[in-house]
Amino acid sequence: MFGLKTDWSLDVLPRYFTLEDYEGGTARWCPGCGDHGVLTAVQRICRDEQLLPEQTVCVSGIGCSSRFPHYMKTYGFHGLHGRALPVACGVKSRRPDLKIWVATGDGDCCSIGAAHWVHAIRYNMNMVVMLFDNNVYGLTKNQTSPTTRPGFKSNTHPRGAFLPPLNPTLTTLSITNVSFVAQTVDWNPVHVYATLKRAYDHPGLSFVRIMQRCPQFTPMVFEDAQRDPSLILLLEDPKGVVADEAGTKIYKNRLAHDPGDINRAREVASREDVIPIGLLYANPDNPRYEDMSSVGVDVTIEDKLAALDKELGRFAI
Ligand code: SF4
Repeated sequence: MFGLKTDWSLDVLPRYFTLEDYEGGTARWCPGCGDHGVLTAVQRICRDEQLLPEQTVCVSGIGCSSRFPHYMKTYGFHGLHGRALPVACGVKSRRPDLKIWVATGDGDCCSIGAAHWVHAIRYNMNMVVMLFDNNVYGLTKNQTSPTTRPGFKSNTHPRGAFLPPLNPTLTTLSITNVSFVAQTVDWNPVHVYATLKRAYDHPGLSFVRIMQRCPQFTPMVFEDAQRDPSLILLLEDPKGVVADEAGTKIYKNRLAHDPGDINRAREVASREDVIPIGLLYANPDNPRYEDMSSVGVDVTIEDKLAALDKELGRFAI
């Protein structure tokens, strides 16, 4: 009648997402902060992979880098200090279809969130975890973090930090069921993109430590490595991070490294004379917790009630 279709389903046109579709509020990080470049890389990956904004989630804890979800036009959760990973694991447990990016800092992840870090690595749920390591608590204005170098003067150690710093890469490589560990430097956008893309493609928890400049409080930390590319060690392997040569040709210091060799990965991660960048370790076959925790997500309310009634029926007198 009236020429109307009897099938009332809508004809949904295929959507194409541009960079603007992933851009949230204007980033309020300091000028020159390394976080800006990482944000751009993630937005580019979302665009290149055409991730559905409504099926993408950015989760963070507390810190400068944890403002990340505000600057993405996707779903997001700006959580409590150190608690980004349990929130992300909870989301993945019940919605394994969602694409999850986690932003956490060296204070957020390696101090108050250390226990969650250890267990999230072991649970190996499919997500990209970006550790923004600037060697300081920046948001709260200059306190010693677990990765602060000895001698650095902060509000908490005005005469200089005196404990040796924690190495988050080496620590992660020592956790049971670790499945992906990589490093990159924020001042090389080509390598940042290639590393995060490789991490996104990995089926499991991908831990990426990003050496991140904080010109406000720790401008000297990565200054030498920025000026002198020989202080960067580029890890090379066809299964590793394969970045465009145009963006990495300044790095003459290179090492062929098989990312399947965890003992060698630990040796490389221990080096203090250079900053190794690239894929240190990957094992796509490790068990993932969401394969178990998401069982039953498609069960209907009616089926759940029927199963509950049946179970309770066993106790009827
Ligand atoms: Fe970035 Fe440091 Fe400024 Fe924080 S304080 S926004 S880490 S430059």
